[in-house]
Amino acid sequence: MQDEQDKKYKGHIIPIINQKGGVGKSTTAINLASCLAESKKRILVIDLDPQGNTSSGFGIDKTKLEKDIYNALLEDTPLEDMILETPQKNVWVIPATIQLAGAEIELVSSIARESILKRLLEPIRYRYDFIFIDCPPSLGLLTINALVAAESLIIPIQCEFYALEGVTKLIESMKMIHSKLNPTLDVFGVVMTMYDPRTTLSKQVVEEVRKYFGTKVFKTVIPRSVKLSEAPSHGLPINLYARFSKGSLAYLKLAKEVSRRG
Ligand code: ATP
Ligand code: MG
Repeated sequence: MQDEQDKKYKGHIIPIINQKGGVGKSTTAINLASCLAESKKRILVIDLDPQGNTSSGFGIDKTKLEKDIYNALLEDTPLEDMILETPQKNVWVIPATIQLAGAEIELVSSIARESILKRLLEPIRYRYDFIFIDCPPSLGLLTINALVAAESLIIPIQCEFYALEGVTKLIESMKMIHSKLNPTLDVFGVVMTMYDPRTTLSKQVVEEVRKYFGTKVFKTVIPRSVKLSEAPSHGLPINLYARFSKGSLAYLKLAKEVSRRG
């Protein structure tokens, strides 16, 4: 294991971010990570949301955890003490539990409070090709920590009316972080989620988002799929739960695009 740990991988830090709730951040974090790992990439997923959806989506029993990302952010516990295996080979997760809910307020009095996660990641980042961070649906200090640690962002956007509303606010925050705390921050890609090919609305939203973000929008669009919503209750990523479902095929295709870009 020591050999493996000393090897250098890309260490690409990519938060999955949108302050709007329920747009597919956690679903994308779990399934993109898992599908990318099939092509021998080493992936770490950090659950930075007190809801802990990414942790449970990987089948982690949150009631049995001794440590989670809260202990790292607030008590300086090294991240490597809390890395867990997942059902998918080459994917590891740093879990979150509801105790993280207190962090937004407790972090306020910490020294260099915006860059704690960045500092904690330094010793471990080059053990992985990609580090995805599943962000909470807010622009508080947890999300700011992800933005400061990041090289670039993946923004999931749900194919629904008002899809771009809120994204403009995210871009404002990104610009603020860009100028003050992280001058190299960029958008890695925008992924359209919960696409319904039967509706013209879905098509219109994709068009509108492509006008706004141009080629940053991934060609792969994630369809609405019941299997994708069922998989977390089985604690499995989609490629292991329903490999040939349309949701799984879409995330496998997205993984290929991500791999080509990054
Ligand atoms: P939050 O902001 O609360 O963290 P989120 O952005 O992480 O939400 P998810 O939890 O990934 O969003 O998705 C919201 C809900 O929609 C979940 O119940 C999930 O299972 C479901 N869902 C996500 N993507 C799809 C899809 N492509 N097809 C069907 N259901 C989906
Ligand atoms: Mg989520």
